[in-house]
Amino acid sequence: MKAGALMELQENLKTLNLSAMARNMEGFVRQARETGIGYDEFIFNLTVSELQARSESRLNRRIREAKFPLIKPLETFDLAAVPELDLRLFRELTGESYIKEHRNVIFLGKSGAGKTHMATALGLEACKNNFRTRFVTCYGLVNELIEARQERTLQRLIQRYVRYDLLILDELGYVPFSREGSELLFQVLAERHEKGSVMITTNLGFADWTQIFGDQVMTGALLDRLTHRAHIINCPWDSYRLKQSLKEKRKHAGKEK
Ligand code: ADP
Ligand code: MG
Repeated sequence: MKAGALMELQENLKTLNLSAMARNMEGFVRQARETGIGYDEFIFNLTVSELQARSESRLNRRIREAKFPLIKPLETFDLAAVPELDLRLFRELTGESYIKEHRNVIFLGKSGAGKTHMATALGLEACKNNFRTRFVTCYGLVNELIEARQERTLQRLIQRYVRYDLLILDELGYVPFSREGSELLFQVLAERHEKGSVMITTNLGFADWTQIFGDQVMTGALLDRLTHRAHIINCPWDSYRLKQSLKEKRKHAGKEK
């Protein structure tokens, strides 16, 4: 093929939104000549490269849209450090079924136990499974909702939060909400009920949730919805970093003897 025609072919592929094929074409042509593969295999390889590039960019988009504060994949979570963790359940949550069935997940434990890390890791797995995922702190979400109400865009924002397949609400319990804040958060969770999964991390036992939401009746209604079809993951162990530094100290003390 002449250089001009080759360029036109490349343009055609781009017009057809086959940008990876356009990008890879020349290399694949060269390779096909060298190896002598047939036309069918050649076009097959090109389509595979296009599909791979698309699924990669889709994953990147999912991760970008999820707005994780830090990218902490599953592989970076040390399971040996948390022998009390229900591994069977944790593994199940790396899959699709709980999101497809709109089940919720609540991580309950002390500060530093690794709740945010686990929620992020599971959120990344959800992105890999092509679920629309969003990570936000409770405090951040409440502020967004209050602002949206002031700007009269509340309904639109709530609808956006309802559409995510998995909504991760980090750090429930550190900051109590105003009455308005509680009501707005309640509204989001009520609207999502049985439409999508919610994953919450909290340091508070359920009995103490009224302190955060203020109103006892509303807290009851909220807990009723959230805990219905929910996996509760207890993380009663001490802070990971604390355990690590104690281990270090013990190691040094051992050396000094
Ligand atoms: P929490 O949200 O429960 O307060 P984090 O998830 O923020 O705790 O964990 C505190 C720090 O310890 C983070 O830097 C986190 O990556 C790390 N960490 C906690 N548990 C583990 C673990 N099992 N393996 C590796 N790092 C961990
Ligand atoms: Mg945390």
